[in-house]
Amino acid sequence: MENMEELVFDPESLKQRAAGEKKQHQLLFKKLQKIRPSILDKRITSLHDYYMGQMNCLDCGNCCKSISPAINDKDIDRIAKYLKKKPSKIVEQYLQMDEEGDYIFPSQPCPFLGADNYCSIYEARPKACREYPHTDRSKQGKILNITYNNIAVCPVVYDIVQELKKEFL
Ligand code: SF4
Ligand code: SF4
Repeated sequence: MENMEELVFDPESLKQRAAGEKKQHQLLFKKLQKIRPSILDKRITSLHDYYMGQMNCLDCGNCCKSISPAINDKDIDRIAKYLKKKPSKIVEQYLQMDEEGDYIFPSQPCPFLGADNYCSIYEARPKACREYPHTDRSKQGKILNITYNNIAVCPVVYDIVQELKKEFL
């Protein structure tokens, strides 16, 4: 496997590289749809473990700076308890409903992200934040659209995809 793409993470460069390789990625993801689920899960989760092990998310924080997780009712209750506020206050103060009916943080960076890239509600953070970038979940074939969108956001996903290209393209 290659070394990590960035020693100092540059989100703009990642975005540009992902855009430049878009056609390749589209072709790859079409091919990935046809791979047996157990093989796909095994390959992606093992690449996830390797590349996540090379990355310190505190040096990056790009997910929290550029996209919002979907936030469910359980998340709202947990955050409310953690901040000792009413759930309705959390909704009023921090959230907005998107067109799909999910609560999201309406603007980025996330209101809970600190300048040091620490999450101020880390213990109570939404499930989608805990699971991001979702490349260690089972049934990867069912979330390929999410992984595809994350190529331009998460350097770990970008690196996983570079390896998948070598094998499956
Ligand atoms: S809640 Fe925490 S982990 Fe989730 S986006 Fe905000 S800062 Fe990041
Ligand atoms: S999960 Fe990905 S985008 Fe988020 S901080 Fe870690 S490396 Fe960066």
